[in-house]
Amino acid sequence: MTNWEPVIGIETHVELQTATKMFCGCPVDFGDEPNTAVCPVCLALPGALPVANEQAIEGILSIAEALDCTLTETSLFYRKNYFYPDLPKNYQISQFTFPVGVDGHLDLEVAGETTRIGITRVHMEEDTGKSLHQGETGRIHGAAHTLLDFNRAGVPLVEVVTEPDIRSPQQARAYGAELQRIVRALGVSDARLEEGSMRFDANVSLRPQGSDRLGIRAEVKNVNSLRSMQRAIAYEIDRQTEVLEEGGTVVQETRHWNEESGITTSMRSKEESEDYRYFQEPDLLPLYIDEAWRRRVRARRPELPAQKRARYKDLGADAQVAALLVDSPDLGTLYEDAVVGGADPRPVGIWLTGEVVAYLRREEKAIGDTGLRSGDLVELAAMTAEGDLSSTAAKEVLGAVLAGEGNPQAVAEARDLLQISDVSAIENAVDEVFAANADAVEKIVGGDTKPVGFLVGQVMRATGGRADPKVVHELIRAKAAG
Ligand code: ADP
Ligand code: MG
Ligand code: ZN
Repeated sequence: MTNWEPVIGIETHVELQTATKMFCGCPVDFGDEPNTAVCPVCLALPGALPVANEQAIEGILSIAEALDCTLTETSLFYRKNYFYPDLPKNYQISQFTFPVGVDGHLDLEVAGETTRIGITRVHMEEDTGKSLHQGETGRIHGAAHTLLDFNRAGVPLVEVVTEPDIRSPQQARAYGAELQRIVRALGVSDARLEEGSMRFDANVSLRPQGSDRLGIRAEVKNVNSLRSMQRAIAYEIDRQTEVLEEGGTVVQETRHWNEESGITTSMRSKEESEDYRYFQEPDLLPLYIDEAWRRRVRARRPELPAQKRARYKDLGADAQVAALLVDSPDLGTLYEDAVVGGADPRPVGIWLTGEVVAYLRREEKAIGDTGLRSGDLVELAAMTAEGDLSSTAAKEVLGAVLAGEGNPQAVAEARDLLQISDVSAIENAVDEVFAANADAVEKIVGGDTKPVGFLVGQVMRATGGRADPKVVHELIRAKAAG
């Protein structure tokens, strides 16, 4: 049996959140009444001419720059010709040769290992309108008629294409998630998969392990969550493995992912770029991006997720904690403030990613709705470090602080959770326990250490769990030894 290696390349469309559309002044506003954000340009009425949107160009430049692309100094718009009812011009303005950015990369960190995914190109285009097929499934098959909404027609769309560098469904998912974090951090798109402002097409092929030639690919469309993308790719790998194992060949085609049945089905044979009769858009000037513009974009760039993770690691977070903090900016800020404020990073990381996350999820709250502030974490960490609170008690205090009962010191006092650090108080409890359990004591004195644990438990009970177990242990041994 051949060992098949999966080869995956991903095309991602990102809708930019600009004030207006790519080539006209219509607002980019989702959820409006159908066909209200339209004009002669985006409806392709005769004589209407496009003008490129500067804010959108800035958006794609920031994405290309964040992906370390080489920016094309003179980039060109093309017409990609095809007929579809939601495309009023019968062509889409896109880019072909000379896209805005080429030869970039995105570094993925999965389980402590870094993989570099090549970015082939980043180009600018415009979105199509929306076809609403009226039928039970919402798909064209079996629909009685179709409604068209052109509000989306002409919305700026950035396409990011990877090299076929991805090797597993998990890696594909990690890539999608990281790209989503990047465009969100840049503030250029809300990148919501379920709403279509970010969309993936996954190209999947197999080849014998060790081969450096590419196999024939199928392209899967309609994956509208990261989980679907992972599932769809895993399904394709299984399907193609079966085809190849039976001595068949994979058909180069576009396939549709069916979320409910969990399978892909053939949609259409793969079109080639020749089919689109690309030619340069005569109504638009070439896009000239000089070094000064690039520098301006670079200077405005916010901290990217990878940089943020690295910074949190410098602040003492392990990889897992750092990843979670980047995905929950409010918790990240809290962590940062607490650690900079002097708290031990380790317990703070554990609390935030454990108790706090669980609390927020359970109560369906944001951190700002709770009583927890960074100063509380500093205080709680100090109380734990000084032995005033056991780790169990610290968690209880944290829960109460979250619920708004007050700061850690006040909560610990009110709930009587402060550990007894006074040795004489613990000694009294040990004496009482020894008196009440003479036979256990006798065994210990006789060299049998088994009952020690039992006696420690008794003392802990007598002190309401507030004695430091280490101190109790030492006292019992010392006392038994005479
Ligand atoms: P098209 O628009 O025809 O799909 P693109 O060049 O835009 O072509 O995108 C091709 C995508 O498919 C890229 O992400 C590329 O890495 C990937 N790809 C190309 N060939 C293969 C292959 N044999 N196996 C897997 N992925 C592939
Ligand atoms: Mg494609
Ligand atoms: Zn318009």
